[in-house]
Amino acid sequence: MDRIELELYLNDMLDIGRFKDYCPNGLQVEGRRRVDKIATGVTASLAFLEAAAQWGADAVLVHHGYFWRSEASPITGRKYRRLKQLFDNEMSLFAYHLPLDDHAEVGNNAQLGARLGLIGDSRFGPDGLGWMTTLPMPITLAHFGAQVEQTLARAPMILGDLDAELRRIAWCTGAAQNYFEAAIDAGADVYLTGEISEPTTHIALESGVAFVAAGHHATERYGVQALGAHLSERFDVEHLFIDIDNPV
Ligand SMILES: [Zn+2]
Repeated sequence: MDRIELELYLNDMLDIGRFKDYCPNGLQVEGRRRVDKIATGVTASLAFLEAAAQWGADAVLVHHGYFWRSEASPITGRKYRRLKQLFDNEMSLFAYHLPLDDHAEVGNNAQLGARLGLIGDSRFGPDGLGWMTTLPMPITLAHFGAQVEQTLARAPMILGDLDAELRRIAWCTGAAQNYFEAAIDAGADVYLTGEISEPTTHIALESGVAFVAAGHHATERYGVQALGAHLSERFDVEHLFIDIDNPV
């Protein structure tokens, strides 16, 4: 397919104009015009780009791209090597951050919820990025933790009483530990996200609301995969998800 057609389709589907993000969403680096093969991944790291180039990708599509608000502008060192890998292989880089967390079907939160058997019934937090559901029958924190571990193939860090009964489950993928208090205010019994910080422990202890840190990478593997699968169904393109493991 045509790269410009792909760009317009993705920007429209993910409704990029709706978000105030920390990075540009959409086409971040331009590659060849014709796109037959799209590689997806969580982060556009050098290892990911090398694997994508080896597979023969014309475009890569990721959740964590480049040009973050806080990052230095000079194209040197690691930044140079990543961009050179794209240029040398004429690969386009498409990156969608908050729009991909948020999307109702292919979004990270929707996809993580689906894998855990959770269907969001309400939203909370800034931009409504956090998802929440009420279970028909309560489950214990131990049971929920085991389910998360099995689904993500990674042991989560769990704060709270393992025998506590949970009914209201809130989640937001990635580094969304700062939404913990918003989840508590929204009535959650447990909040699941990717990362954890030192203050999180005290918030859990003092609020009595459980916290599960299941991994930033592990919780954000699914949105971009679902988006790639969607593209290969809809258009004449091949899709491969390349998982470069990350313990965080
Ligand atoms: Zn993230």
